Amino acid sequence: MNIFEIAAFIFNSIIAFMIGRILYAQYGIMAGLCGVIVGYLLGVCILKSTLLVAWFWDRIFLSLPLCRRGVCTARHYKRKGTMGDGILYVCACGDRYLKRGQRLFEIGSDDTLKLYMRYDGHNWVRSDNIKLSDLDT
Ligand SMILES: [Zn+2]
Repeated sequence: MNIFEIAAFIFNSIIAFMIGRILYAQYGIMAGLCGVIVGYLLGVCILKSTLLVAWFWDRIFLSLPLCRRGVCTARHYKRKGTMGDGILYVCACGDRYLKRGQRLFEIGSDDTLKLYMRYDGHNWVRSDNIKLSDLDT
């Protein structure tokens, strides 16, 4: 069990206890026990939906790093359609980028792709730190 699982267990237990207690006070011990189970499951649903929202939020809003000039944050990029299997973005500076999965390429004025950054699951990492063996993942 890691720290998040422990926190989730405590969170679920608190909700289970609260709902169980309310139902117990109203309807007795059996309702109270059912309330504990329902409350625990409710806690699990709340946490799962929070994770889902965070995942979508990350995919939709926080999915781009600072632009190469260091000016634009994720919300400054404008989506300009798709190109092959990637999504085309233009930042407020006018530079074009192509996001392919976990990788962000800068598109040069001659339409060449230059790897800019790679998302390692938590952060965007500069392409300088990327080994060639990582490129196909
Ligand atoms: Zn920019």
